[in-house]
Amino acid sequence: MRPYLIAGNWKMNQTPEEAVQLAGELVRQLQGVKHKLLIAPSFVCLPGVAEVLKGSSLLLGAQNMAAEEEGAFTGETSVNMLLALGVKAVILGHSERRHIFGETDELINAKVRLALAKGLEPILCVGETLEERQAGRAGEVVKTQTRKGLAGVSPADVGRVTLAYEPVWAIGTGKTATPQDAEEIHGLIRDCFAGLYSPREAENLVIQYGGSVKGENAAQLMAQPNIDGALVGGASLKAAAFVPIARFDEGRT
Ligand code: PEP
Repeated sequence: MRPYLIAGNWKMNQTPEEAVQLAGELVRQLQGVKHKLLIAPSFVCLPGVAEVLKGSSLLLGAQNMAAEEEGAFTGETSVNMLLALGVKAVILGHSERRHIFGETDELINAKVRLALAKGLEPILCVGETLEERQAGRAGEVVKTQTRKGLAGVSPADVGRVTLAYEPVWAIGTGKTATPQDAEEIHGLIRDCFAGLYSPREAENLVIQYGGSVKGENAAQLMAQPNIDGALVGGASLKAAAFVPIARFDEGRT
């Protein structure tokens, strides 16, 4: 049985003080939730949030990291810096990184491999644009991003990778993929993974859905056999919106 992973991507939203406050509210309100929970504040908020999460079951995540381990890379943040702050997982290949900052599959793959080599769990994001979906290319795009993102990742390491399917047209737009549309792509990703690794590895792969997830649609999405959690943007910025998603199976949404 795969664990559900519910993660909040806070993007570029809080000051360190606000982030500490939100993290404190979440620690209190998410006590007893049995799913794996993760929050990913911005880099400057990590130290304060790390303190708040100590002793709780919430895991600390980062939103990105450099592809190089150290050196003259002005403005970048390294894997070792993240590890030193207690970060357990890192979101890589988010559509905002791909489409606003021009990150390529090759660069994302270098980050995935470095994260794994240093003991950080990558959450590899994949997803098609609206144009690609309308052209009937969603499956092909997502499979290519999955294959290229995982190039060179050994079977021994791949068990620490999470995939996140985030259709670009559903991120921050209020448009959610229907549970059936999302399930179809999640199934394709799992099949692709089985071909790259093995059916057993594919069975264990956690695939999150991301794109306008809310308390109102979380349970329906999570009821799909191949949807194993959520990567949440907008609705992760307020405890009142994130808690019902994390408690999607408790009948309170
Ligand atoms: C995201 O940025 O990963 C995301 C899914 O955002 P939102 O939930 O706001 O669509």
